[in-house]
Amino acid sequence: MEFSTATLKALVDLARKGEGRTRPNPPVGAFVLDAQGVVVGKGYHRRAGMNHAEVEAIADWKKRNPKVAAHTLLVTLEPCSRPGRVGACTDAIIAAEIPRVVYLCRDPNPKNRDKAKRTLAHHGIECRHLKFAPAEELIRPFAKHVTTGMPYVTVKLAMSLDGRIADSCGDARWVSSEKSRKRTGELRERVDAIMVGGETVRRDNPSLLPHGKANPHLVRVVVSKSGKLPPDAQVFSDGKNETLVYRDAVEAVRDLGRRGMMHVLCEGGLKLATSLAESGLVDEWLTVLCPKVIGTRRIGEAVVFGGGKTEDVFVCSRA
Ligand SMILES: [Zn+2]
Repeated sequence: MEFSTATLKALVDLARKGEGRTRPNPPVGAFVLDAQGVVVGKGYHRRAGMNHAEVEAIADWKKRNPKVAAHTLLVTLEPCSRPGRVGACTDAIIAAEIPRVVYLCRDPNPKNRDKAKRTLAHHGIECRHLKFAPAEELIRPFAKHVTTGMPYVTVKLAMSLDGRIADSCGDARWVSSEKSRKRTGELRERVDAIMVGGETVRRDNPSLLPHGKANPHLVRVVVSKSGKLPPDAQVFSDGKNETLVYRDAVEAVRDLGRRGMMHVLCEGGLKLATSLAESGLVDEWLTVLCPKVIGTRRIGEAVVFGGGKTEDVFVCSRA
C-alpha cells in the first residue's frame, strides 16, 4: 500500500499532540487503515504511564469501526517490543491480528532497534520501515536523550535589524506581532522545560508559561550565579508550574537530563545562551528577526518598520 504525504503528515501532527507531555517517552501517533487506505482508527501517546499510540489506535478502531478489517497499522516510530510501564505494543498488534505494520522511523535506541520487526515476523506479521523525515524530526529530542542522557537544547534569541540582541520571553516590548507571540506559545507547548537567566527574571518578571492551554508537565528553570532572585517573581509566586533554580548552566542541563527532560528551550538572556554554546550544549538556534531599529534607545522606543505591520522572521538553524 502506498501512503499519501498528506496521510503521513496528518499522522505526525497527531503524534505532536503529545509533545511536551510524554517524557521520558517519545511522542508517537498511530493509524489503523483499511484495505483502501482509509483511516479507521487513530491514537497518540498522551503521556508517560498512559497507553502507547498503537494501543490507542487499535482501541479506537475496535470502538468506531469494529466491522471493518484492519489492513495496516501505520505508526510514527517502530513499536516497542518490551513491556515497560504498559504492555509491549507488539503484543497488542499480534492480539489484534493486524497483518501489516509500517513505521516511519527506527527506534533510536540501538538496544531496541529492529526488535519489533523480528518479533512481528515471528508471528507472520509483515513489518517495514518507511523513512519519513518529519517523523524523525519529531523524535529528535527523544533520540538525543535516549542515546546521551542529555536533553535537546533549543536557544531562542531575538534580534533587531541593527543587530541588537535581547532575550525574548514573549515580552510584548520586544516580540512585536501577535503571530510571533502565538509561535512562541506553541514552542513552549512542545518542550519539557523553559530556561532563563536570573537577569531576565529580575528585569522582565516573565511567567514563562504558554498562553494557550496549561501544561502541568512544563518545568521552569532559572540559572543564576548569584542566586539573588526576587521571591515574589511570577515564576516563584504564581503557584503554577514547578520552578528549579541552578547556579550553573551546564549543571542545569545535566540535571534536567537526569530528570528525564528531553527538550529544553532557553529563552534568555544572552549570557546564558553564550555559556550553553561555549559548552557545546546547543542543538538548535531559533533566531527571531524583529523589524525594528533600536540604536541606542530602549527597546520600547525602537523604530518599528512598516508601522508595525511587518512580521517577525523566524530562522531555525541546527548547531
Ligand atoms: Zn509501545
